[in-house]
Amino acid sequence: MIPFDLHTHCTLSFDGESSAEDMVTRAVMLGIKYYALTDHVDLGEFPDPDFDLEATVSGAGAQIPALREKYADKTELLYGVELGQAVQEPELAEKLLAENDYDFVIGSVHNIRGHEDFYFLDYTKTDPQELLGRYFDELLETAEAGRYDVLGHITYPLRYIVGENGINIDMKRYSGIIDEILRTVIKNGKGIEINTSGLRQKYGRTFPDAGTVKRYRELGGRILTIGSDAHRTGDLGKGIAEGIELARNCGFTEIAVYKERKPTFIRI
Ligand SMILES: [Zn+2]
Ligand SMILES: [Zn+2]
Repeated sequence: MIPFDLHTHCTLSFDGESSAEDMVTRAVMLGIKYYALTDHVDLGEFPDPDFDLEATVSGAGAQIPALREKYADKTELLYGVELGQAVQEPELAEKLLAENDYDFVIGSVHNIRGHEDFYFLDYTKTDPQELLGRYFDELLETAEAGRYDVLGHITYPLRYIVGENGINIDMKRYSGIIDEILRTVIKNGKGIEINTSGLRQKYGRTFPDAGTVKRYRELGGRILTIGSDAHRTGDLGKGIAEGIELARNCGFTEIAVYKERKPTFIRI
């Protein structure tokens, strides 16, 4: 039994493979009680050329509340968004959040200023340690600026640097800034997520991994969500059980779900 999955995408995202309704019916089939569709709204100077911001936002606004009604007796469908690079276009981010009744906002950094998504970067040409440092700087800026409920997949670039390119990274040099990010999240009453996508990729760990989740708990962090980051029905709910186990091992007894931008807590 999978109690929740708070980070998923459908074809409303440029990289989603299954329709919103197929995702919801799969969630119902899996018995997921709290299920969030959190399609991409990526801001900044490197949008995907096929990505139409307006169509995505209005499409989600038309489809997801309607599906929530249709499946109301089967799952609690949460209307989410994964807002990328909000600090690169703060006014637009504010406007989008004011105009849409989201239940849940994941704040993510997929690319740093002046560079494309970490997915596209050539790590033989640009120093990965330096890129990672700039990633954490922008993530700290994101944590400070607000406009999110939880920070998405902390350490995301490791999916490509370590997972895809097999480059070793000395993570100790970032422990100071990671602490600062976590402290900022906690001070602002926000949370982080355990993103389980890394478990089914070459990286083989969650984003962030157990060390960071444990540190978050030690610093006083209590708001933690868990999501698969599925982009198709086949990945829905994957790794949630492992994520719950990891959370327990790090001292958590409750996991947050969000409705109308407010957390409620589910015992694990
Ligand atoms: Zn993401
Ligand atoms: Zn995502």
